[in-house]
Order: sequence, then structure tokens, then C-alpha cells
Amino acid sequence: MLSVVKAPDSRLRVKTRPVKKINPALKNTLKDMIKLTKTFKDPEGVGLASTQVGLTESFFVAKNGQKFISVINPKVISSGKRTKKYFEGCLSVPNMWGEVKRSTNIKVSYQDSGGKSITVPLKGIPAWIFQHEIDHLNGILFSDRVLEQKGKFYKFTGKDKTGTDVFQEITI
Ligand SMILES: [Zn+2]
Repeated sequence: MLSVVKAPDSRLRVKTRPVKKINPALKNTLKDMIKLTKTFKDPEGVGLASTQVGLTESFFVAKNGQKFISVINPKVISSGKRTKKYFEGCLSVPNMWGEVKRSTNIKVSYQDSGGKSITVPLKGIPAWIFQHEIDHLNGILFSDRVLEQKGKFYKFTGKDKTGTDVFQEITI
């Protein structure tokens, strides 16, 4: 059974190596990772990288529209100049949030779980999720990006009367 590795575990700092062969064991792992990600509802799990379950090859699962997809050996081919600040959290960094500036448009290539090579432009939420997960595959956490960009960290403090999430700035 897989479980999510939490910071500051050193397994989150591994630089992954490429998957050489997509075998049935890997396909099962990817299925299990999708199942595990779906168990996180609040906040919702939208992606999970191999390093977050203690593995060392290059792959992740991510929500793409309504469906989860498996992404193996991803590479960013190009990043658009336009950036946006995304309010990010991570299943491996519980109850910490921060704004991270990322490209709104990227072009990526990867293999799906059937071994098919895919090259695709992404924008908006999927582009953001891919950049966060590819960072994981290089041992980088969103909190590193917040620090690097001199951004602010927040913690979730509950919901207000209208049911809106309330966040409070924290210093780390
Ligand atoms: Zn993450």
C-alpha cells in the first residue's frame, strides 16, 4: 500500500531517473497513485509524483479536466513568457500554502501508461499542475519556489460564516 511522504523527508529531494520500461508493476503503481490521490478531498488531491510515494523514477499522475492521467518521463519543451501567481499547496507539505509564479502556457512531451509518446500544449490549471509535479521529479517543492520568489506562506485557519476558506499569513 502506498502512502504520501511528508516534508522534510529526504525522499522528496531525490532527482528521479527516467523510466526505461513501462511494465505491469509500473502500471499498477500508477493506478494505485490515482486511487490514493482521489482519497484527498479537502484540499482536493490534483496530482501526485513518484517521489511523494518514495519512488525514484520519473512519473506522476495528474488531474486533467475530469480525468486523471498517467505521465511518464515528462519534459517541458517550452514555457510561455506570460506568468501568473498560483495559490499552491501540496499533499507532502500539509497545511501550508503559498503563491508561486509559473508560466500560464507550456509545451510538454511524455509517455502515457501505454507507452505512447505525446507532445501537447497545456494552459491554465493543467499547465500549473504539470509544472508543480515536474518540480517534484527534480526534488523541488513548491515551498522552495515561494522562498526563491520571496513570496508569502499561509496556513488554513477554517471557514468563515459564508463557508469561504480563510488563510492566515505565517512566517517560516
Ligand atoms: Zn506537491
